[in-house]
Amino acid sequence: MAVSTSSIYDCLIIGGGPAGLTAAIYLGRFRRNVLLVDDAKSRAALIPESHNYPGFPHGISGPDLLKELRRQAEEYATLYTARIERLTTAPDGFLAEGNGVKVQARRVLIATGIVDEAPEIAGLRDAVYRGALRFCPICDAYEATDKRIGVLGRVATAWKKALFLRSYSRDVTLLPVDDAQGIDAQTRAELVKAGVEIAAPVTDVERAEDRMTAVLRDGTSRTFDVIYPSLGSQVRSDLALELGAHCNDTKCLEVDSHQRTSVKGLYAAGDVVSDLHQIAVATGHAAVAATDIHNSLPPNYR
Ligand SMILES: Cc1cc2nc3c(=O)[nH]c(=O)nc-3n(C[C@H](O)[C@H](O)[C@H](O)COP(=O)(O)OP(=O)(O)OC[C@H]3O[C@@H](n4cnc5c(N)ncnc54)[C@H](O)[C@@H]3O)c2cc1C
Repeated sequence: MAVSTSSIYDCLIIGGGPAGLTAAIYLGRFRRNVLLVDDAKSRAALIPESHNYPGFPHGISGPDLLKELRRQAEEYATLYTARIERLTTAPDGFLAEGNGVKVQARRVLIATGIVDEAPEIAGLRDAVYRGALRFCPICDAYEATDKRIGVLGRVATAWKKALFLRSYSRDVTLLPVDDAQGIDAQTRAELVKAGVEIAAPVTDVERAEDRMTAVLRDGTSRTFDVIYPSLGSQVRSDLALELGAHCNDTKCLEVDSHQRTSVKGLYAAGDVVSDLHQIAVATGHAAVAATDIHNSLPPNYR
């Protein structure tokens, strides 16, 4: 079924990860007319099992959490699977268009998330599910306690992740993808003091059954229980940027304390915002944004 309507939604939510789905629950329960459009590429779908999301002492997988959030959101809002390709301003708010979708909405919430840059390896998704390749030490370094850990990335950014991981393991190696000779003296001294080894530059990364092997430029290779890539991410903020929304230098959207972007009526929540990229933060943003959206709309008295 395509969604195309001459009537106007109170709010269009673009993105159906934890942020978008939470906002749909809140706005629907504020008795607002809400459409959520999602193209089903949530970062949360990659989570094998989260142990830091409150309320699940035995852990919950990303796919299970998304399934439950969708089930709850469907009680209150219309959910549609598609990709929004264009977002423009319209007299009463915004016009959004995508495959099978052409809708108007008074407010729009951007909850489109980010995509982690990953090394090119065969069986990438399986390595993530097995916990051999991890992207988020804040999420799951606890599960890497006392393991042999490699941190793969440009030295200028990866060194911080390597030091963070020293709280979990004595065996942390920085695996540079650039020339580690360029590392400044103070950073090198901090890494040495913390006992983080700096390997020769990496030329390749491979799966080694349940572990990961880094092939180094000096001809040797090293095997790790876990590799954390620190290669940056693509922020899916283009729809908002094309409307002139302000962002930081990594293209994460800037918002005020009510999750309002610099474009009137346009809100943002979750990983697409310049903040800590966590489920609890995404759902918190969503609650704040949804409440402000409701309060900013004309009253919907019965
Ligand atoms: C391997 C891994 C493990 C993690 N573990 C944890 C953990 O244990 N605890 C924790 O708190 N966090 C964890 N995270 C982080 C967590 O997944 C994110 O913080 C969370 O998913 C952010 O939610 P979001 O709704 O902002 O974005 P997402 O979940 O990425 O959802 C964004 C949605 O928007 C959709 N979208 C994008 N553009 C469009 C468009 N133009 N039109 C329609 N739809 C669009 C996407 O398809 C996607 O479904 C982990 C991440 C990874 C990768």
